[in-house]
Amino acid sequence: MENCVFCKIAKKEIPSNLVYEDEYTVAFNDLNPQAPVHILVIPKKHYASLNEVDDPVIMGALLNAVKETAKKLNISDYRTVINTGKGAGQEVFHIHLHMLAGRPLKWPPG
Ligand code: AMP
Ligand code: ZN
Repeated sequence: MENCVFCKIAKKEIPSNLVYEDEYTVAFNDLNPQAPVHILVIPKKHYASLNEVDDPVIMGALLNAVKETAKKLNISDYRTVINTGKGAGQEVFHIHLHMLAGRPLKWPPG
């Protein structure tokens, strides 16, 4: 989608630090990390949020990409977060899964 920063990252039109890629997804480092490891996993195809994803293949591919990224980076303990909608803190309207690791992550998060 035009003017979508994450579409541009997926198409490699703007630089990012890619850590994983497959047919359906890419994963890259968050610009403003909230943990020593903070990676975003996105579908190559544009969906504004989880609410717009209508393809179970993409649903599965996103979680698979999280698992494969963790495996590639040798990370066993991590948190996966999807903010859906402004009221839940979503700022970029191209669905992304946050992967956080590298420090103790308390639960409940508060
Ligand atoms: P959210 O609040 O869930 O929409 O998260 C958006 C995330 O995207 C934030 O953690 C930002 O730091 C991150 N972000 C925004 N632009 C970029 C970018 N160009 N490259 C990497 N991460 C980005
Ligand atoms: Zn997009």
